[in-house]
Amino acid sequence: MAKGKYIRKRGSLRIDIISGVPQLLESPLNHSIVKRARDKGLVYIEVHDIRDYATGKYRKIDDYCYGGNAGMVLMVEPIYKAITALTKQRKYDEVIFLSPDGEQFDQPMANSLSLKKNLILLCGHYKGIDHRIREHLITKEISIGNYVLSGGEIAAAAITDTLVRLIPGALTDETSALTDSYQNSLLSPPVYTRPANFKGWKVPDVLLSGDHNKISKWQDAQALARTKALRPELLK
Ligand code: SAH
Repeated sequence: MAKGKYIRKRGSLRIDIISGVPQLLESPLNHSIVKRARDKGLVYIEVHDIRDYATGKYRKIDDYCYGGNAGMVLMVEPIYKAITALTKQRKYDEVIFLSPDGEQFDQPMANSLSLKKNLILLCGHYKGIDHRIREHLITKEISIGNYVLSGGEIAAAAITDTLVRLIPGALTDETSALTDSYQNSLLSPPVYTRPANFKGWKVPDVLLSGDHNKISKWQDAQALARTKALRPELLK
């Protein structure tokens, strides 16, 4: 299971992810930028298996839906135990449930969540979770888009990844996150790397000019033009 590797630095973000299928989270949380941020102690991430809080011989975590609808529902008790085991240990800023009917995740929400100290992300599966958890323990519900995933794990991974790259020090060039799309309501300008000429496909001359002022003006103009063309609603 994916555990935080190093002692957490003071003030760093802690994310506890509660899941019935923790294997789904292994790869996205253990490579590249997220892995490096964990190794540096910028973020502490721990994945908790709901099954560890289940009782009985088969450690059952799901059951049939009351009312006879199709699909299994994650049971109230194991999730209750998993959440309260954490909330007993420390204060959480938000206990978040990933859900297609939640508030739509976007960059401003990511910016604000990345400044928090302790977050719980609860993943549903199958038909969802027993609604009493949402009524009594959840403080915020987030959707990553108007479509339905099989489980909250991919949504939790997307949110975690988005928050982690906003933590100062997570990206090698600290200003890099600020020039990404959606920061300042603008899309990112196009980016290129070597070679300057590939089979006659050329990198814009201005980027090779070495004139930082000119380059930055060109990038600003490109960002604005791309936003106008592709996502005009962001400019409103
Ligand atoms: N029956 C539910 C969908 C269940 S999908 C409904 O119609 O609303 C199973 C789980 O996947 C959900 O409980 C949720 O945790 C996760 N999930 C699915 N789509 C999601 C989305 N767009 N954003 C965030 N989580 C999602």
